[in-house]
Amino acid sequence: MNKQARIIPRSSTTLHADWQQELATAIKSSRELLRRLELPETLAGVDPQPDFPMRVPLSYLRRIEKGNPADPLLRQVLAREEEHLPPPPGYGPDPLDELRQMPTPGLLHKYPGRVLFTLTGACAIHCRYCFRRHYPYADANPARDHWQAGLDYIRADPSIREVILSGGDPLSLSDGRLNDLLDDLESITHVHRLRIHSRLPVVIPSRVTSQLCVRLEQPGCQRVLVLHINHAREIDQAVADAMAELRATGVTLLNQAVLLQGVNDSPEAQMALAEALFSCGILPYYLHQLDTVQGAAHFAVPEARARSIIQQVREQLPGYLVPTLVEEQPGRRSKTPL
Ligand SMILES: *Cc1c(COP(=O)(O)O)cnc(C)c1O
Ligand code: SF4
Repeated sequence: MNKQARIIPRSSTTLHADWQQELATAIKSSRELLRRLELPETLAGVDPQPDFPMRVPLSYLRRIEKGNPADPLLRQVLAREEEHLPPPPGYGPDPLDELRQMPTPGLLHKYPGRVLFTLTGACAIHCRYCFRRHYPYADANPARDHWQAGLDYIRADPSIREVILSGGDPLSLSDGRLNDLLDDLESITHVHRLRIHSRLPVVIPSRVTSQLCVRLEQPGCQRVLVLHINHAREIDQAVADAMAELRATGVTLLNQAVLLQGVNDSPEAQMALAEALFSCGILPYYLHQLDTVQGAAHFAVPEARARSIIQQVREQLPGYLVPTLVEEQPGRRSKTPL
């Protein structure tokens, strides 16, 4: 990985494969995924027909080690029979009770001063641990004509200083639609900050188009992009290059990860992630304890181990490379630090 920030000419983005093409060619079957990774197509424990469909773009596939059934990137995307185990107590389809907290379709106003706008159910990758895996996106997500209700709500409440675009993945919207939405949000004078929560620039780095960068560079609100990277090996050269382009727009880059059994549940994995993030200009922000969503219990890391992992990281890295370990509890006014 390059250690130094590089200025990358805008035109380099045109060399990327079109990101929408990458979306369309994502792998959706476990057989094909396993075949390409030179693993047995009938690997024990794999669910060939999951309820939450599989989705793995080729650009992500290239970062998975061939022939290794325990690869930490593979574990995040391969559907397993364990997803059908009876859920432990406390696990359910909507662990955060989000569907009851929407003042308008897709808009969550749980924390003071900021709203979370879930714009689309679409994601470039399907993460098996996702807490929105049972989310009825078709009903809860505002189609373009429903955005208006969310915008009206934000416009009517001057206490809202920050709007967080979320999903699904908000960058699965086209540059044109995103542009229109940013224009609308930035026309609201009390909105000072725009935040985008997205995994797309990591999963498909060619999503960082020159059009997106030009838009992010325009004067307006302060902008924050919170990425979602769980393992150091998710950051390859293409991702580092995309981050350099994003940094050049002046956007603040942060990362949130989820602590996942068998993926990143060791001090070594967390330290490698923090160093890899910072080497491309991203600060670790949150490390989330798994949300108790039905079908994901096999990813859970017990709280005592989670605390011990983060304590060991804190003893070895500078404070600014240590993410805050948090848990989300329904009914609180913020995430709960552990
Ligand atoms: C996580 C979350 C936010 C953002 O919280 P920060 O602590 O500001 O990152 C906002 N709204 C909802 C509903 C959230 O779940
Ligand atoms: S990208 Fe985010 S919202 Fe989409 S499946 Fe993964 S964790 Fe869930």
